[in-house]
Amino acid sequence: MTQPEPIPVRVRPEIAELAPYRQGRQAGADAFKLSSNENPFEPLPAVLDALASASAVNRYPDALANRLRERLASEFGVSIDEVHIGAGSVALLSQLITAAAGPGDEVLYAWRSFEAYPTLVTTAGATSVTVPLTDDARHDLPALVDAVTERTRVVLLCSPNNPTGTVISQAEFDAVIDRFPADVLVILDEAYAEFVTDPDAVDGTRVLAERRPNVVVLRTFSKAYGLAGLRVGYALGHARVLDAARSTAIPLSVTAQAEIAALASIDARQELLERVADIAERRDGLVAALRAQGWRVPEAQGNFVWLATGEDTLAVADALHEAGLIVRPFAGAGLRISVGEHESVEKLLRIAASVVKDLP
Ligand code: PMP
Repeated sequence: MTQPEPIPVRVRPEIAELAPYRQGRQAGADAFKLSSNENPFEPLPAVLDALASASAVNRYPDALANRLRERLASEFGVSIDEVHIGAGSVALLSQLITAAAGPGDEVLYAWRSFEAYPTLVTTAGATSVTVPLTDDARHDLPALVDAVTERTRVVLLCSPNNPTGTVISQAEFDAVIDRFPADVLVILDEAYAEFVTDPDAVDGTRVLAERRPNVVVLRTFSKAYGLAGLRVGYALGHARVLDAARSTAIPLSVTAQAEIAALASIDARQELLERVADIAERRDGLVAALRAQGWRVPEAQGNFVWLATGEDTLAVADALHEAGLIVRPFAGAGLRISVGEHESVEKLLRIAASVVKDLP
């Protein structure tokens, strides 16, 4: 690759080295896009109607999205100050990390996990410390506790873990949570919570009920609620911690449209959760069928599956791309494939069956 032409503007050296967020390949008209864990269903008419009635775009939105905060506060049985809305949960991650960690501080998380974590930590000026996943692609919680130092300011726990789909169990979480120092912020990133069917999985709402001031739970309307394009997520936690996040937020970044669509989605929750149950069932069928073909697939609790294709990852991704399935390759590690339309699942299984025979 050729070096970019130098410019006189000084950029922080760690930022100059940072690659911008990569979305993966975009799908052509007749390809299935299974690369971003989006919801394959069209928005509900009630949500589209609410959007059409959203306030005029010449006005700024309500800075704190208070109607949505109030609604979520009553849903979760917390006070409005214990809810904070962001332009996607990735914005909330950024705010919380920036609020708690800066130069000289460490942010601890399992790896491999959500690709945005290292970028957000570097952007905050802090240092990432990672602990490998176990052989079955799960968080190693005792090892995470052991990796805490006096510089650790934030611990990121992702359940279900993107991209491997595995969950932290409630028992594993309960066994370690009090071993993290009380002044370290623990963020439980539950972007895929609604897809979880494992009754033993950690549940942010149960965690919240214990009211630990250092634990924040993150959720989003992007996945189960199908509003990825509108950018809206929420944090639940101690009011003072969320105040710190509010202080670091880019002002007015949650649009009125995002707020109104989120409210309409909560109203339509029953119907949306039926779709979620459909996807979870499709996911379980897909995992069973892939395992029957001989693939090693870890437990999948999000709306995606992980194929540990190792050195063959890019070749398998190419075979799938050629067949019109756009998936997310992580070179040298594996493929993350979203559970999409029925037809895409059938096609995936057909291609996967022919590819698995060629693997060493
Ligand atoms: N956390 C995890 C684990 C994710 O996979 C994602 C999206 N890929 C996010 C957070 C951010 O989602 P959003 O900003 O759309 O809410």
